Amino acid sequence: MRVMQGIAASPGIGLGQAFLYVHERFLTPHINIEEGEIPEELKRFKKALQVVAQDLAEIVKTAAVDNSEQIVETHLLMLEDPEFTKAVEVLIKEEQVCAEWAVERVLKAAIEAIEKGNDPLLRERSADINDIRWHLVKQLMGKSHSNLSMINHDVILVSDTLLPSQVLSLDHKYIKAIALDGGGKTSHVAILAQALQIPTVVGLGNITEKVRPNDQVIVDGNLGEVAIRPSVASANKMVERHAKWEENTRKLLALATEEAITTDGFKVELKANIERVEEVASVLKNGAEGVGLFRSEFLFLKPGGASEEEQFEAYKEVLNRLGKTKAVTIRTIDVGGDKIIPDLQGLSEENPILGWRAVRFCLSRKDIFRAQLRALLRASNYGKLKIMFPMISGVEELESALTILEQVKDELRGNRVPFDEEIEVGIMVEVPSAALTADILAKKTDFFSIGTNDLIQYTIAVDRGNEKIAYLYQPFHPGVLRLIQMVVEKGSAAGLPVAMCGEMASNPLAVVLLIGMGINELSMSPLSILKVKHIIRSISKLEAYEVLEEVLKMDSYLNINRYLREWMYDRFGDFFTA
Ligand code: PEP
Ligand code: MG
Repeated sequence: MRVMQGIAASPGIGLGQAFLYVHERFLTPHINIEEGEIPEELKRFKKALQVVAQDLAEIVKTAAVDNSEQIVETHLLMLEDPEFTKAVEVLIKEEQVCAEWAVERVLKAAIEAIEKGNDPLLRERSADINDIRWHLVKQLMGKSHSNLSMINHDVILVSDTLLPSQVLSLDHKYIKAIALDGGGKTSHVAILAQALQIPTVVGLGNITEKVRPNDQVIVDGNLGEVAIRPSVASANKMVERHAKWEENTRKLLALATEEAITTDGFKVELKANIERVEEVASVLKNGAEGVGLFRSEFLFLKPGGASEEEQFEAYKEVLNRLGKTKAVTIRTIDVGGDKIIPDLQGLSEENPILGWRAVRFCLSRKDIFRAQLRALLRASNYGKLKIMFPMISGVEELESALTILEQVKDELRGNRVPFDEEIEVGIMVEVPSAALTADILAKKTDFFSIGTNDLIQYTIAVDRGNEKIAYLYQPFHPGVLRLIQMVVEKGSAAGLPVAMCGEMASNPLAVVLLIGMGINELSMSPLSILKVKHIIRSISKLEAYEVLEEVLKMDSYLNINRYLREWMYDRFGDFFTA
């Protein structure tokens, strides 16, 4: 048996046989051929066209998403496009290069031409062309295509890395756990795994080299451990540990209807982060007082995106199910970074984390932004909806977003479409420049919500999804704590409610500091709400403030971590680590 230590990303334990999925990284071969080899090369190209067309037809039959026919049809049309096939054949004949290289050259040139132009419709096509390029070159190289949505029996999914769209395409009832080489605790794959309640460990480094297909594997998403080919005794130990965790979780359910209030009367609103409408059941079960962050971009992760109508229906459903009094904060789409949607954004960027993301994307794709704002405003008539803009880096961006919102409101008024005229509009504070100018931004917005996942990433310059530098991703870095405190102080001084919706809000060690700072609202995965409530109900604001004062005197995250661990152990024993 081998036990590997990674990063606990989604709680629970999963046991089963490994399904190994490793993304292939391949270099397209560039081989010069002899004149006599040309007919054979042309034949290979024709055959690849046929096989890829058949594969695509197969995918459409089994895909677990709507709209797949439409996408595949576009791909099939491309495969049959005489201009394309002719260009490849000409290269094979005249430049005497192998079919792989000819396909690569022709399609890459097409993609580059599209990327240079500014036609949004064409830009969307470049992702399709890239997909076809990938299929054809792989086919020519004799590598078959593997589709995760086809998994139809219980497995432990072991992979190097997964895209959020791949996680969404899984039939998750069959995925008993996930173990990944890459990823960080706050990567979007980890966040989605929590939403789907799949026990997950990320950042394992090289588990894909240690596991063989069908090996017995146990994934402990609470402690971040993965046991490969475990002995019966160790399997029993892990299962026992899991039973204890389940018992603790069950006990906490009794708190679902209680308030999150400290022993000296400081009330905190505990809300839920959701990515999918289906999560509302879990939001209600865990007694959330609303939705503090609806990551609306996940509606767009399926092929074809989400129309205004589809969005409106999704937002309305969440509002209806939460009732008139529980607020739902919906964040406008935050695509980009580790949530690239090729259909919307074309080819990947050199530096996506600092690139065309979130509100930056919306301000240049106003068609998509306006459609979303219309859907949000229309839905606001059905409950207490708040709008939140992500990745605001300065006042200019905020003003531009607000101007568009006002225009959309005017348009709706003109068409006599009702919406909530009092709708609140807030921003995520997740870029250091926004935190540093919180006093300026506070004048133009109704609330702040601190996004620590990105705030930590950008403050320490550490990619939140990269396991190689995960040791640097430290919520208790004094630089991060100072920025958070600054946002709370500036926001509160301007009379704004200050919330936190990053993963730090559910970190048991952080809760006491956040209460000490006076944060009024914490929003997190529904599964974490009750444990945070238990902490809040067991402490006083005064002692939380004393802990904060002590921590702010310390100069290293190592010391702060140690101090908070000891403090929690004194107060709660092994309740949060068992
Ligand atoms: C954050 O950055 O903390 C956040 C809540 O947003 P996301 O994780 O979706 O980037
Ligand atoms: Mg963020």
